[in-house]
Amino acid sequence: MDSAVIRTRGWRLSGTDTNQPGSVFLSVVIPVYNEEQSLQLLFERLTESLAPLGLAYEIVFVDDGSSDSSLQILRQLVAEHATVVLLEQRRNFGKSAALNAGFSLARGDAIITMDADLQDDPEGIRTLLERLGEGYDLVTGWRVNRWKNDPLTKTIPSRIANSTTRIMSGIPLHDMNSGFKCYRAEVVRNIHLHSDLHRYIPVLAHYRGFKVTEVPIEHFPRQYGQSKYGAGRFLRSMFDLITVLFLSRFRYRPLHLFGLAGAISAGVGLIISFYLSLVWLFTDDPIGDRPLLLLGVLLIIVGVQFVSIGLIADLVVSIERHYEDPQSTVRKIYRHDSDD
Ligand code: UDP
Ligand code: MG
Repeated sequence: MDSAVIRTRGWRLSGTDTNQPGSVFLSVVIPVYNEEQSLQLLFERLTESLAPLGLAYEIVFVDDGSSDSSLQILRQLVAEHATVVLLEQRRNFGKSAALNAGFSLARGDAIITMDADLQDDPEGIRTLLERLGEGYDLVTGWRVNRWKNDPLTKTIPSRIANSTTRIMSGIPLHDMNSGFKCYRAEVVRNIHLHSDLHRYIPVLAHYRGFKVTEVPIEHFPRQYGQSKYGAGRFLRSMFDLITVLFLSRFRYRPLHLFGLAGAISAGVGLIISFYLSLVWLFTDDPIGDRPLLLLGVLLIIVGVQFVSIGLIADLVVSIERHYEDPQSTVRKIYRHDSDD
């Protein structure tokens, strides 16, 4: 398949002609944290895979506070190649922050993210782009042969995390956390990554209304250096899942969540209190020392607090919405005289 086919399928090519100086069709964003041995080879393999596509591209490296010689190597690459852009983070802020920074600079209509450790095969970029051209907004690489290449300490927690995410979010993807992904530019403009939310980019994108799919890709074992994530990632990723599900479903209507919890709690508390009032009024039994009284009062107080948190959260959202682009949720605008 030649590059023209990739570029025309479903794409709107505003100002992305390969021959037009300064325009970029594809941005490859790569977060780098202590990957000195991989970088030169990565750049060479990337260039080899990108050249035959015939697309105007840029490679955006984000050095995430590396303490080895990664930054020096990347600076050398920028000095030698016009296709390279380098961002230097002030310190190690984590992969999510590195991607966020890279996205802010990426100029392409299509954006690829990949890891710097040679685990992703640059040849897969074509596959991802072709799938994107079929009408998707985000294509995530599914590391089908990961079982063979990565240690069990990684693949088992990853399987559990993926199934949990699949069940909780309802998005039928096998491999959410693959670093190898392809996006339309508007997706990265619409998702904001903090903490370790990069693991849940497909969930965030799905809830923003983007069409998300996956495609099988090659995944190699790590050749040089060490993985930056140990076993502790599992617990952290579960916390992040709560954040993501909350942000996805109740981001703009927190009172619906807190209000419901508050209403249930206060409701049960009121029923208990009502029952105890009847006991107090119509029988001679004392109620002052009954644990049930304590429970009833506690549930009412907790319920009121839930509702208050929801109201404050709604207030924050309404202020924030005021400054947000009202068209951030719009896919397309149709006008009478437009050509599509
Ligand atoms: N990375 C980063 N900042 C960090 C940790 C990792 O930029 O704080 C980069 C790292 O250099 C690599 C990618 O994120 O390019 C994925 O990291 P790693 O390969 O260690 O993760 P794994 O493949 O083990 O999930
Ligand atoms: Mg890796």
